[in-house]
Amino acid sequence: MEIKMNLTKTPKEKPDQSKLGFGKFFTDHMFIMDWDSENGWHDARIEPFGPLVLHPAATVFHYGAEIFEGLKAYRRPDGDVQLFRPWENIKRLNNSAERLSLPQVDEEFTLDALKKFVALEKDWVPSEPGTSLYLRPFLFGNDETLGVHTIHHAKFVIIASPVGAYYAEGLNPVKIMIETQDVRAVRGGTGYTKCGGNYAASMRAGDRAAAEGYSQVLWLDGVERKYIEEVGAMNVMFLINGVVVTPALTGSILPGITRKSCIELLREMGYKVEERLLSVEELSAALRDGTLEEAWGCGTAAVISPIGELRMGQAHYQVADGGIGKLSQKLYDTLTSIQWGVAEDTHSWTCKV
Ligand SMILES: *Cc1c(COP(=O)(O)O)cnc(C)c1O
Repeated sequence: MEIKMNLTKTPKEKPDQSKLGFGKFFTDHMFIMDWDSENGWHDARIEPFGPLVLHPAATVFHYGAEIFEGLKAYRRPDGDVQLFRPWENIKRLNNSAERLSLPQVDEEFTLDALKKFVALEKDWVPSEPGTSLYLRPFLFGNDETLGVHTIHHAKFVIIASPVGAYYAEGLNPVKIMIETQDVRAVRGGTGYTKCGGNYAASMRAGDRAAAEGYSQVLWLDGVERKYIEEVGAMNVMFLINGVVVTPALTGSILPGITRKSCIELLREMGYKVEERLLSVEELSAALRDGTLEEAWGCGTAAVISPIGELRMGQAHYQVADGGIGKLSQKLYDTLTSIQWGVAEDTHSWTCKV
């Protein structure tokens, strides 16, 4: 499929790289293609960034048929731009699509479209330390009827936003609390997909935690309310007695690409990594007897988010003395130096655009 180009005649001014924040500025263009059950994907195009005009009955507004991805384009020291394991994002997009009965994309075409789009927006990839161009592909049902039935029309869009360093002053430990009321996802549900509805259902707990001075919640499983699942919208890892423990992918956990990369790097460093169930009791025992050495969240946006304080009911615990653990720092340094092209990419994880 050919990608039609309709370029803007009024390019925007680039924002100040020290004031980017997250998802506040958008590039000059967006990629769009349409799907219907008769013709498949068609009409791939890059056009000026702007509002989408949708029918008020569009499926996405009423029945939440929406999935997305999040990845970054990084400015290398030599000035080139590269992506980090983008094929993993596209594979995951298709897994999410399958769960929500949305159409599959052609993986090769989509990777090619992503690269062409980033190449066009190359000048928008910032170069200050820790900055990047965040890419947000999303796909939604777009049937113009209120009938609840198989999706016959869908849209796939990619937008891009230059984003700042997640931590303005380097890594920063976060305070988290265990959420005992709401659950993010259940087995058999949509927990393993990146769908908008998962986020909508998790905001109330996030708001409550924020009101008490915590930046994220630690989610428990929805059945027994006993096993650790994720932290906020990140995967979570614990260093207990020299062994790294991370919740197994049971179906209600998002299979993070940062998680996968951390596991591979940790094993290369010689750490034993266990993907298994981890109960709150086991975690609180490790906190009490001092065998919990470090804990961190991991995801594309923050890369590594060290956990400095954990609240369980009325008990408050410090983790890694409330600071940044050695292993958290080492993982962050190792992963970010590959992503920004500072270290050699011995895993073939990156690709230039
Ligand atoms: C996106 C996401 C992650 C992290 O995935 P990455 O591929 O590492 O960015 C973890 N948990 C949830 C709920 C997510 O949506």
